[in-house]
Amino acid sequence: MIERIDGHTILIGLMAYPIRHSMSPTMHNNAFAKLGLNYAYLAFDVDNDRLPKAIDAIRTLDMRGSNISMPNKQKVIPLLDKLDPAAKMVGAVNTIVNDNGILTGYTTDGTGFMKSLDDEGLNIRGEKMTLAGAGGAGTAIAIQAALAGVKEISIFNAKDPSWENAKRNVDIINEKTDCHATLHAIEDKTDFKNEIASSYIYCDSTGVGMKPLEDMTLVEDPNWFRPDMIVFDTVYAPRTTKLMKIAQQAGVKHVFNGLGMMLEQGAEAFKLWTGKEMPVEYIRELLFSEDK
Ligand code: NAD
Repeated sequence: MIERIDGHTILIGLMAYPIRHSMSPTMHNNAFAKLGLNYAYLAFDVDNDRLPKAIDAIRTLDMRGSNISMPNKQKVIPLLDKLDPAAKMVGAVNTIVNDNGILTGYTTDGTGFMKSLDDEGLNIRGEKMTLAGAGGAGTAIAIQAALAGVKEISIFNAKDPSWENAKRNVDIINEKTDCHATLHAIEDKTDFKNEIASSYIYCDSTGVGMKPLEDMTLVEDPNWFRPDMIVFDTVYAPRTTKLMKIAQQAGVKHVFNGLGMMLEQGAEAFKLWTGKEMPVEYIRELLFSEDK
């Protein structure tokens, strides 16, 4: 690291709060080192109050860009100069690119989700997906899947504050893409079971199953799943969630946690900043080799 940093090093940030637990600095700095790129990636504690000055600093310091995470993904939008069309549809930004003082916002969570399936040789384009959740991750996944050519998405959400967001996601997908989206109450278990039964992929983006809720899952009965389908949990701590165990009991062949998505959202941002492909397999091995 020390050998790599000099007077020409280009800085990329990560602005969120809390953020010190993030794996992104390790991921990006190792990828820069592997490719011999003169960049450095640093995490900064930035909440909503500090966000305007922090974004201005990207211009002032001529940083190449930044990742943005909670609680800033929506709040950052009015502070930028341009928005990528997908980020506009999702209504959130997780990556900023600075081109000579012009800041453009992108969202790479949804493309990371699609790419992680491509990496496994799985194609959900033209298929039906049942998706639980319509928060930050669920919105990015739904919109990007629809843009990429998924034929039908049944979105299930609790009647909580994100219900309105679920409605918005369904409307925007039906208006702006060829995908047909429908909204369902997650409390209706019969409907939930039936929609999963007619889907090629079930994706849970609710965070249920994540520590400290690791004993919970929205699908408790293995009979809801078929061996020939995909079950995807956006959670990656723990590595095997309760949902994934239920799917494994059902003999589901393709069961995934959120690590691949996390890695690929980073790779997408890496490419936006550097123009280079992140050495994804090298990083996967480096960061997650204890999972083997
Ligand atoms: P969020 O708070 O924005 O949204 C949470 C969603 O889950 C909402 O739709 C809410 O209604 C639903 N939900 C919450 N508790 C529920 C319950 N008990 N029953 C039913 N629905 C419930 O959160 P987010 O930012 O979208 O993150 C969700 C999960 O996705 C987290 O576990 C996060 O770690 C993970 N995530 C993973 C990646 C990745 O790259 N793998 C990226 C982003 C988020």
